[in-house]
Amino acid sequence: MSLDLAASAEAPACADDGVWLTCIACGETFAPFTDVRYTCDDCDGLLEVRYADLPTFAEFGAGADSDGPDRGVWRYREALPFDVGVTLPEGDTPLHRVDRLEADVGVDALRVKHEGMNPTGSFKDRGMTVGVRVAEELGVGRLACASTGNTSAALAAYGGRADLQTLVLLPSGKVAAGKIAQASLHGARILEVDGNFDSCLDIVQDLAARGEAYLLNSLNPFRLEGQKTIGFEILEEFHADYDTYPDRIVLPVGNAGNTAALYKAFRELVQSGAIDEADVPKLTGVQAEGAAPMVEAIEEGNDEVRRWEEVETRATAIRIGNPVNAPKALPGIRNTGGTAVAVSDEEITDAQRDLAHEGVGVEPASAASIAGLKKLRREGVVDDDEQVVCLTTGHLLKDPDAAYEAGSEPEPVPNDTDDVLAHLAE
Ligand SMILES: *Cc1c(COP(=O)(O)O)cnc(C)c1O
Ligand SMILES: [Zn+2]
Repeated sequence: MSLDLAASAEAPACADDGVWLTCIACGETFAPFTDVRYTCDDCDGLLEVRYADLPTFAEFGAGADSDGPDRGVWRYREALPFDVGVTLPEGDTPLHRVDRLEADVGVDALRVKHEGMNPTGSFKDRGMTVGVRVAEELGVGRLACASTGNTSAALAAYGGRADLQTLVLLPSGKVAAGKIAQASLHGARILEVDGNFDSCLDIVQDLAARGEAYLLNSLNPFRLEGQKTIGFEILEEFHADYDTYPDRIVLPVGNAGNTAALYKAFRELVQSGAIDEADVPKLTGVQAEGAAPMVEAIEEGNDEVRRWEEVETRATAIRIGNPVNAPKALPGIRNTGGTAVAVSDEEITDAQRDLAHEGVGVEPASAASIAGLKKLRREGVVDDDEQVVCLTTGHLLKDPDAAYEAGSEPEPVPNDTDDVLAHLAE
């Protein structure tokens, strides 16, 4: 295993208070908060936030007793570009035990990190608290994103809190009801595009390039800084319970922002000496069979991901054919010894039921992590002695229609106790 750590932590002249942006393709560095930019000026490569001083894990563990900067995402401010942001607060999500599922899957330990417990019901809040703080720093007027739903809900809430205009582009007819309801009530202007998510992102990138809006998709490197804290929390919480780190983290993959963010979290912890390289969990990505370009690249050993023009899955949050963070995420999966796997919609729904029966309510995309783990266990890729954390990315209520379809039917009964008892006895 080789983590390709950043070559040097020495701040370039363009750094602002020990923070700068580096192109992952050509190494060019840029000032972080003076001009708006999402990719490299020279080669269009993805940008990554870098810090002169990396914190240690000891600093991470400090203080967690109130809301604001001592709870959730901002507890990790030593590893973020600011000390506090536009917060609701986010993070500090539960790492559930799921004993029956653990026995059923047949692994030594299985825990579920439920990111659906964030303020707007998905992990996107972690990225947005940092991203909107940076938008304030840059002094931009309008925030925008393309979204399969959850990014729009988070952007609308955090943009609203910061008193900034928000614009969201959604693929028409392919966004779950709860997510549109959130974006709408939190005050976003919603444009429904006659196309899929990838086309929405193409348009938002054009708008951003023309200076019409500040882009807050996960192409924005600051979003991933907030999402990095998922990795910090998992390692800290797991270690507190098991006195060791998990062997593997399994997560749903759409644009692969989380995969990239977790990999960055691990690299920073190794680089700062907080954990050993051998402690880094195997990053394992799961996609739906109808939208699996990352899985294709991993299975075929390709360095580039082929864009899928046609994508389809009930798990609308990962209905994405062109994962923009692939250049960051593919090395994350490969260098940690992980893998990627595709699952069917039926397997996703089964896993959603399994989780729900343990009291953990998630939307379909989230259940892909459990479905993927079950498949890899069946195939013998995951061993029975492994300790695993599955990430569930969004809350059950995000997609009430999917939940209703996966669950049991309500039974109509007469308005009478004896009739109710008779019905129960049938
Ligand atoms: C955004 C989202 C994903 C995909 O995450 P990426 O970081 O884009 O891979 C998965 N599940 C849910 C519920 C989401 O909202
Ligand atoms: Zn470059």
